[in-house]
Amino acid sequence: MTRAQGSRRLGGVGLAVAGFILLALLPTVLLAWWYAGASREEVVSRAAERLAQGARLGSGLYHQMLLAVERSLALEPAMVSLASVDHDSCSALLQREVDSHPFVMSSLLVGRDGRVICASSGRGRGVDLSDRPYIQRAREQDSLSVGEPVLARTSPILVLPVARRLSPTAALPGPGDEPAIVASALDLDGLARRLGEIVTDPSSLEDPATGVLVVDRDYRIVAAWPDHARKGQTIALRPERDGRAAIYAVHDDGGPELIVGLSQLLTGGIRLVLTERLAEVTKPADARFRDVLAVMMGVVLLGAGMAVFAARRIVVLPLLALARAAEEVEEGGRPTALPRGPLFGELETLRRAFSSMVEEILRREASLSEVNRRLADLAERDPLTGIANRRAFDAALAQAWERGRATGEPVGVLIIDVDHFKWFNDTYGHLEGDRCLVRVATALASVSLRPNDLVARLGGEEFAILLPGADAEGAGKVGERVRAAVADLLILHERSPHGIVTVSVGAAAAVPTTLGDAKALLAAADRAAYAAKAGGRNRVVVDGRVTSQPARPAVLEAR
Ligand code: GH3
Ligand code: MG
Ligand code: MG
Repeated sequence: MTRAQGSRRLGGVGLAVAGFILLALLPTVLLAWWYAGASREEVVSRAAERLAQGARLGSGLYHQMLLAVERSLALEPAMVSLASVDHDSCSALLQREVDSHPFVMSSLLVGRDGRVICASSGRGRGVDLSDRPYIQRAREQDSLSVGEPVLARTSPILVLPVARRLSPTAALPGPGDEPAIVASALDLDGLARRLGEIVTDPSSLEDPATGVLVVDRDYRIVAAWPDHARKGQTIALRPERDGRAAIYAVHDDGGPELIVGLSQLLTGGIRLVLTERLAEVTKPADARFRDVLAVMMGVVLLGAGMAVFAARRIVVLPLLALARAAEEVEEGGRPTALPRGPLFGELETLRRAFSSMVEEILRREASLSEVNRRLADLAERDPLTGIANRRAFDAALAQAWERGRATGEPVGVLIIDVDHFKWFNDTYGHLEGDRCLVRVATALASVSLRPNDLVARLGGEEFAILLPGADAEGAGKVGERVRAAVADLLILHERSPHGIVTVSVGAAAAVPTTLGDAKALLAAADRAAYAAKAGGRNRVVVDGRVTSQPARPAVLEAR
């Protein structure tokens, strides 16, 4: 596997592009986040405003109720005196008053001594109310006296007691059983319900979003609508955060967070509290926020994914292909991975530049190897005769020697030296000497040899033939053919005893062993050639043994 193929996974460029996209989209996401948060706050603040308005409305309703009650408690003195003598008509009279007013639950006629004279319920006669602050106050003042929520004596509900004196004389001393004050118990639940019905959309009365609480000084719930079960709990009004909308929590039941609208303290130490569940109010905004967030996340992920995909297709894969192609060129050879054009944008410029660079590299490589081949050829060729030179012969001999050592085959060598060549040069000139050497070389090469045999010029007028596989006898035979071939050229050499150019041939052969070496074989052939010279020239000596000594050539005979 090449280095470039190693990075098929999401690499640096893909990750960088994804990172950039995420970074670029981050402000948009934050903006959407901020906007959603702001719109949620807006919704909460609107709801708080609405609830505050409702509370103000409730406060108005409460005062109207008190006014109506005050009016209805202004009983005709004649009727009162009539009622005071007949207990049943007194109760009936009070019951009529109760029935005529929606928030009045019960009424009492109280005497100067603070004892009940008669009640709308018909019971309670004689009960002493003189210790009640609102009764005491009613005696002193001309207007309606409002008490604090109290558990009704006649029924187990919290009511708001109010009282009013019948006439200014009620404050003066007089007979204890003389009617002096009329008192009523007001229905706080009714007030809460009435207010709730006013502020609630009629279509959602079944499950109203807005709740109404009536709380006392200590924020204990004395009336609740629609959730009556809240009664008796204490709400802890604690702003959960700053801002236009105050959010409170009802702590006692660990209930949900509420947005509340609060009225000022009304008479009777009560407040009206309108509540709405925070979660309910912010539900649509939260849902919108979630939608926006989901869409934003989708957009971001899709964008990043597409960017990575595009970067991979457009940039990364072509670059990897170019890198692989570069490696292929590096390893030698024509690249197979080069991407086909056209690539995207500037990458196409890169691809074209790369392609022509590769072409140029391949072209230079080809011409370089051609030059190398020619140089190698020249280095192993003799310039005059065109046959192998000494370097090539030595290399071939070493190679044959190695091979012979492995196969056990013998290696034969001939050393061929032109006889009296100095005289030839002296007689015919150096140029003619060169021509003679070329002809001798051609004659040597034309002797039928085996494909692995090598004819070389060792230097001057000395040649050699390598005969792999030839033993001494075989080498001698080839030597004889060589000697004859040169003699057959019949090159005139007047100063030679033979009259023509002849050669002396030394032949040697050996089976290569680990002990001996090729130089020793060459030295043996040299010695044999020397022996041929000494023996009279124009002859072949095999390892010191003369194998041929031809008769004098015909041409010489002819002279
Ligand atoms: P021998 O029979 O003992 O070999 O005598 P020789 O004269 O051939 O031997 P010697 O070594 O004395 O002389 C070799 C001569 O070959 C010397 C030189 O002038 C000649 N010679 C060597 N190289 C070249 C060459 O490249 N061209 C020519 N024309 N002559 C060369
Ligand atoms: Mg010589
Ligand atoms: Mg010679």
